[in-house]
Amino acid sequence: MDLEEEIAKPTVDEMSVRPNLDNYQEMTATFEWEDMYSELDWLPGGGLNKAYECIDRHAEGPKRNKPALIWEGKNGEQETYTFQELRRETNKVANALNEIGIKKGDRVFLFLERIPELYFSFFGILKIGAIAGPLFSAFGPDPVRDRLEDAGAVALLTSPDLRERVATIIDDLPALKHVIVINKDGRHENPPMGSKDVSYETIVGAASDEFTIENTTMYDYSVMHYTSGTTGKPKGAVHRHLAIVQQYATGKWVLDLQEDDLYWCTADPGWVTGTSYGMFAPWSNGVTQLIDESGFSASRWYEMIQRHKVTVWYTAPTAVRMLMKAGEDIPARYDLSSLRHINSVGEPLNPEAVVWGQGVFGQPIHDNWWQTETGAILIANYAWMPVRPGSMGRPIPGIRVGILDDEYNELPPGQDGHLAIRSGWPSQFHSYWQAPERYNSRFLKGWYITGDKARQDEDGYFWFMGRADDVINTAGHLVGPFEVESALIEHPAVAEAGVIGKPDPIAMEVVKAFVALKEGYEVTDELRRDLNRFARTKLSSAVAPREIEFVDSLPKTRSGKIMRRLLKARELGLPEGDISTLEDD
Ligand code: AMP
Repeated sequence: MDLEEEIAKPTVDEMSVRPNLDNYQEMTATFEWEDMYSELDWLPGGGLNKAYECIDRHAEGPKRNKPALIWEGKNGEQETYTFQELRRETNKVANALNEIGIKKGDRVFLFLERIPELYFSFFGILKIGAIAGPLFSAFGPDPVRDRLEDAGAVALLTSPDLRERVATIIDDLPALKHVIVINKDGRHENPPMGSKDVSYETIVGAASDEFTIENTTMYDYSVMHYTSGTTGKPKGAVHRHLAIVQQYATGKWVLDLQEDDLYWCTADPGWVTGTSYGMFAPWSNGVTQLIDESGFSASRWYEMIQRHKVTVWYTAPTAVRMLMKAGEDIPARYDLSSLRHINSVGEPLNPEAVVWGQGVFGQPIHDNWWQTETGAILIANYAWMPVRPGSMGRPIPGIRVGILDDEYNELPPGQDGHLAIRSGWPSQFHSYWQAPERYNSRFLKGWYITGDKARQDEDGYFWFMGRADDVINTAGHLVGPFEVESALIEHPAVAEAGVIGKPDPIAMEVVKAFVALKEGYEVTDELRRDLNRFARTKLSSAVAPREIEFVDSLPKTRSGKIMRRLLKARELGLPEGDISTLEDD
């Protein structure tokens, strides 16, 4: 298609119907996802590829010179890439990956800080039809090894310092053939290269910037995110290219993205919000987004909003609570009037935070709900809808949400139950990598069981009640107690460990471990410090226990399972519930 034809084509906004106060009920009743397919461009060969929808289709049309990515580095660097430039950079990565033998279906992981090369690499991986597996850059060696091993990853893209952090695991992974080391702008002294290492700058620097995207179908896998459950190690939730349909739609419907927006998502791409809404939703809508490499700082965040004139902002309750704690004098020093729509996800957003947003930003913060497995937002407070502080909002068109009893039958409004979604939405995960039983166990009577408890009110708003399992939500990150317990018992002094989430005013929950020592070991300050250090090094400070309590023994069922529920009840001073399966001391 030439440029004139492209300009004559109706723009996405002209084609798109957005839910609003008047049409929400009708749209919810009649909307079919296929209605949205025509708003995507599809590949010339008929397939669907997220990289084409997010980058190439804009790079080939009137948005070619529009900034796609505005980046601020932690050393004050500033870089901007247009859609056309993103296309070239991602093409180079795709060629380089092909050149070293990576092919369609291979799992390629990213363990990187938020630098532009992370984004080039991510979409380069998608362009060759491989599966991208992003990792949280704060992880220690254990979580990285577990995930790469489970996925049979063939390549890891990382930076010299992060490579150093996980150096001990590289040789433990026989499937891992390539470690592609990105030394952005020579930030690091050149590290010693291992036998699997190649330099990104060398292989990408030599690659052509022309590439024909693999003709992936909408059913081909694109991304996998590891997520924690109550038992066992985290599982890789795998998503298809088809998920882009819903990521694109919710970018419009929930984030209310418009052509001239400057959008900022504060989530790290190691977690699903950082990919679905830190890559796919804004770019499939052709919107410019800001990426900040640095972590949280109240004054820096307000300054970013002011300086870049951020219009739409997607953040998380823990961050909002940290901003609240920093006080109202700081935001008063900045001009935040560019903001027109603020969203939050990942944990319950307390009603006070919604009200606080109204005071500081002149508008409420809009909570929405979804999870790794759902791939995109499913329940939301919309810009056009009166916010009910404390509620997650109402379902998006095209899905059906139910509250179920313990037999998985639907309950009427007003009752607490399992939050469930009728199976079959486009961004639904398609498997847990090599764990079909775990995957199948999430689907009952035609419903996907989310693992959350919730209630629906008479007006169709959903209210979060808590998790139905032992998974811990700390600062919006899910932590599986088993993963932490497994790390702790590797310490020579630890006989057994039980891990729970302890309520916390800022992070919602923090990880607390109860530890029984092996015979011959005594509780000392030094041992406590050593155990803390051990857990932080193995796991990361985000996942390691914030608190360790030494106990003589842990309550267990007669079959030997640690009763975390009981540990939690005791911690909170709550009734101990049914303890008939408790083993005798
Ligand atoms: P993740 O899969 O890591 O994105 O975590 C998803 C989980 O975070 C959900 O199952 C909920 O337990 C929690 N969560 C996400 N959004 C919300 C929200 N708006 N309110 C309450 N909990 C939420």
